[in-house]
Amino acid sequence: LSAGQPAQEGGGAALTPVLTRRWSAPSSWTLASYRSLDGYQALPQALAVEPGRLVELMKASGLRGRGGAGFPTGMKWSFLPQGDGKPHYLVVNADEGEPGTCKDVPYMMADPHALVEGCIITCYAIRAPFCAIYIRGEALHAIRRVTAAVREAREAGFLGRDILGSGFDLEIVVHAGAGAYICGEETALLDSLEGRRGQPRLKPPFPAVAGLYASPTVVNNVETIASVPAIVLGGSDWYRSMGTEKSPGPKIYSLSGHVTRPGQYEAPMGTTLRQLLVSAGGMLDGIPLKFFTPGGSSTPIFTPEHLDVPLSFDDVAAAGSMLGTTALMCFNETVSVPWAVWKWLEFYKHESCGKCTPCREGTGWLVQILRRVVSGAGTPEDLDTLTDAAANIAGRSFCALGDAAATPILSSFKYFRGEYEDLVSGRTPPVIDARQLVGA
Ligand code: NAD
Ligand code: SF4
Repeated sequence: LSAGQPAQEGGGAALTPVLTRRWSAPSSWTLASYRSLDGYQALPQALAVEPGRLVELMKASGLRGRGGAGFPTGMKWSFLPQGDGKPHYLVVNADEGEPGTCKDVPYMMADPHALVEGCIITCYAIRAPFCAIYIRGEALHAIRRVTAAVREAREAGFLGRDILGSGFDLEIVVHAGAGAYICGEETALLDSLEGRRGQPRLKPPFPAVAGLYASPTVVNNVETIASVPAIVLGGSDWYRSMGTEKSPGPKIYSLSGHVTRPGQYEAPMGTTLRQLLVSAGGMLDGIPLKFFTPGGSSTPIFTPEHLDVPLSFDDVAAAGSMLGTTALMCFNETVSVPWAVWKWLEFYKHESCGKCTPCREGTGWLVQILRRVVSGAGTPEDLDTLTDAAANIAGRSFCALGDAAATPILSSFKYFRGEYEDLVSGRTPPVIDARQLVGA
């Protein structure tokens, strides 16, 4: 467990921690600790107003989804049709699996009641009597912790029938995934929750219209829902006082790789990697940065020239990448780019669900070619095949996983094509010994 560290020391961006403010409290995961730090103060305030006003509050706050896509949360909540006789559901996507993404599990470990309180308020706002928290199966520790928090909340009267005398009933179920990356895709997650093999559904219809059991469903990320109680307590103006105009609020940035102090750093939206690195003690052993991902391996890589790009949804997009999950994987100059891309592609090939041909077959081809390249057996033609195959997977696959697999190749060729050329021409030695690939 990484303690939440505000990114404010020594030149980082100043922020009084909001999301991580309880993380270092003793036994922060218990109901008693949570209640001693404003916990469950937002709930009675929320239950005292019309649900529609909470949807308007989320819209006014400008909160955008923290699962990667940055879709406006209040707008998503407002999409649920009213009066069609179908039950509404909230599903929390806690299946984080993107390489480099590691914020939601620490959140659930340190402050599970913020998530539970956020679920209760959200369910009241969208008029949902049932909520499922779908947690990545490998994170057994987080499953246990959130389950315990739900039990504590029920015993305290925050769940069940007639919550705090409001007439609102709610049940929360914690569901363990089975370790498939594709089940983090929201519609595959819903299929998995319904007991089927997790594979993406055609969109539209979006879950807001036909989600769990074909009923209107809001699917939101852990960090998104955990932000809700603070917004109810602080109001939209306060929330908008942090971050940028189009990406307001605080954010948890996950620094990993060759940094001195990897971990979770809370800072306002729009903080730069240069500022975050100050808080994280700089690059490990002082070896300079070579490339980084702004938001996990599915986001186009950046180079040191992007160190001052404000890490907000719009600024990162304007600079040619995506903010994604703010998983900042930092690689120093000792790392071979083709090697890193090959490793990412092995992951995507393994996790491809096999439903559509471009991704199922294409990821296999990409891995085969990349193996040749990094082992020194590639040819110049391989590089054209690689980019051609990647370009044909991107935009032609059924879900975002296909695009994600193509991204590391296409973006690394933009900045580091020369490294691939040096490998296939023999100007640089192989990155791996071909004998390692026997049986691979
Ligand atoms: P998306 O843009 O298709 O959708 C984002 C959200 O908005 C979804 O909940 C979707 O249902 C909703 N939405 C979009 N348009 C809508 C409409 N017209 N009506 C109603 N609802 C609408 O993105 P996505 O495919 O859900 O997610 C892609 C992102 O996931 C990537 O940016 C990537 O960074 C991220 N990702 C995260 C992880 C992780 O571990 N957290 C893993 C892989 C990918
Ligand atoms: Fe499955 Fe890949 Fe197609 Fe997505 S793009 S549906 S993961 S095969």
